Amino acid sequence: MRFPGKTAIVTGGGNGIGRACVAQLVNEGARVALVDMCDSEVTQGLVDELKDAPGEVRAFQADVRDGDRAKELVGELLDEWERLDVLVNSAGIVRDGLMGAMTNEQWRIVVDVNLGGTYNYCYAATQPMMMQRSGSIVNMSSTGAEFPSRGQVNYAASKGGVNGLTRCLAKELAPRKVRINAVAPGMIETGMSAAVRSIVGPKLKEIIPLRRVGQPEEIARAVAFLASDDASYVTGQILRVDGGLSLGGY
Ligand code: NAD
Repeated sequence: MRFPGKTAIVTGGGNGIGRACVAQLVNEGARVALVDMCDSEVTQGLVDELKDAPGEVRAFQADVRDGDRAKELVGELLDEWERLDVLVNSAGIVRDGLMGAMTNEQWRIVVDVNLGGTYNYCYAATQPMMMQRSGSIVNMSSTGAEFPSRGQVNYAASKGGVNGLTRCLAKELAPRKVRINAVAPGMIETGMSAAVRSIVGPKLKEIIPLRRVGQPEEIARAVAFLASDDASYVTGQILRVDGGLSLGGY
């Protein structure tokens, strides 16, 4: 129970890794605002699942590309909660394609959601966290930023941007005791990776030193560590959680 009385926002909290982050934080006592643009039935399912948990979750339907909505939402939550302790930026998409066949739309939407959405919520949270002189932000990067796969120019660029934003903002926020880090997952079993997992098939186990894909809960536990006071001296880091995938070699 590392988050009793703490408040959090989790973007992309309706599915996959974000959903596991919401559950982790709520089960550790946090009040969580889940922000996602997915069907409200999906988020309501999680709200119902967590109704007896120590914390609480409330779902908001929003597109992270909408910066005005991000500021409005943070303002509304602050009016009620009076503080914002944790922000997890997990909303993200892929629109893979080789450069020769990539459309401008494919490029733009991936950068706008993955990098622009992360920027929007970091921007909205920065002022309140600086003023309260505490807070922890965890962004979702990817091992694909540093070890890219073919067909992911847009995705690799967006996650490389998330890494740069995280490291730079860490320096700006540190004097006000606000920390910001990122988690870089490898291959995690969610809807996003389903297509790649089915194409690569059993070979995946040979590529990943731990011989299995990761589970969203394993990312959520790393996120909770970085969000918590257990990581009180950690800022500006990109933590790879990938079963050794990025180690390379034989
Ligand atoms: P997912 O598709 O299961 O969930 C992503 C969630 O983000 C969905 O609920 C979706 O509705 C939401 N979302 C997408 N666009 C949005 C928008 N514009 N506004 C609000 N919500 C939006 O994907 P996931 O695997 O859980 O991915 C979560 C994060 O982890 C992403 O940033 C992704 O890039 C990153 N990641 C995933 C993997 C993996 O293997 N699954 C690996 C590395 C990094």
